[in-house]
Amino acid sequence: MSFTRRDLFKMAAVGAAASVGGNLQASDDAYPIDCSQTYGVLVDTVVCIGCRKCEWACNNEHKLSTTDLKTFEDKSVFQQHRRPVDNAYTVVNEFKNPETAKPYTIKVQCMHCNQPACASACIVGALKKNRLGSVDYDAWKCIGCRYCMVACPFQVPAYEYNEALKPRVMKCTFCLDRLEEGRKPACVGICPNEALTFGTREQLIDLAKERIKAKPELYFNHVYGEKEVGGTSWMYLASTDFINTELPKLTNDPIPHTTETIQHGIFKSFVPPLALYGLLGLIMHSLRENKEDKESDDERS
Ligand code: SF4
Ligand code: SF4
Ligand code: SF4
Repeated sequence: MSFTRRDLFKMAAVGAAASVGGNLQASDDAYPIDCSQTYGVLVDTVVCIGCRKCEWACNNEHKLSTTDLKTFEDKSVFQQHRRPVDNAYTVVNEFKNPETAKPYTIKVQCMHCNQPACASACIVGALKKNRLGSVDYDAWKCIGCRYCMVACPFQVPAYEYNEALKPRVMKCTFCLDRLEEGRKPACVGICPNEALTFGTREQLIDLAKERIKAKPELYFNHVYGEKEVGGTSWMYLASTDFINTELPKLTNDPIPHTTETIQHGIFKSFVPPLALYGLLGLIMHSLRENKEDKESDDERS
């Protein structure tokens, strides 16, 4: 692995931040008291038609890569599994329901977790959960350590590696500017089939349960994101068990407790930043594996 001068400067800055105290992280004031009233979006994959208009609207709103609508009419992209990247905050993927063999499409982006692991891993408070529900990123505070990318259980944050001077962490903003003006996110506004519904988490959980109750033959009886990792602002309905979707199987425990414990322990011992980066990655990796092991044990028992 090689480092640019900028990387080295930022690593030094991390070290300086760590050496002046172990409390330079966002978690203390990062979480609203009552997430039932923060905003969220219900993604109903049963009614999503895979039109990719949400992708276009997001790119258009945030001036990311191409904004040519025709590009987004191309369905051949479904032949590959795509992930959100620095120039596409959201992507739509196609999968087959293994029970019915019918294809379904699913939009993915930052989940705007109630207790975001990315925010608790960030030692300079560049990521914060705000009272509207968005997990907001402050590029000015960011030192480019990319701990958030390691910590996110949904593997969402991307990095602008091609920006030499001012690279940023890139992810869905929940269209915070629009929320502050009382408008819906751009992707929600354009969805032609009500596959995306905007509201408070409380309203959306009620709506999701009503849809499941009204058409149990169409919906798997689970609202993904209601409880996973302590709850998320973006939640999902599907026609199949979520283990058949690209959303990871996670426990209901919020992840920040782990990242905070790791960081507080390490800062007290003045572990150098490079070692911290590696150690955080290793521990988060083993945490995911342990969770998978535990879940497969649970399933076996
Ligand atoms: S705009 Fe709506 S229906 Fe179209 S792909 Fe996106 S979520 Fe699905
Ligand atoms: S999905 Fe990942 S990036 Fe988004 S708020 Fe949750 S932890 Fe942070
Ligand atoms: S909420 Fe805004 S930033 Fe997030 S996927 Fe939708 S349009 Fe993009």
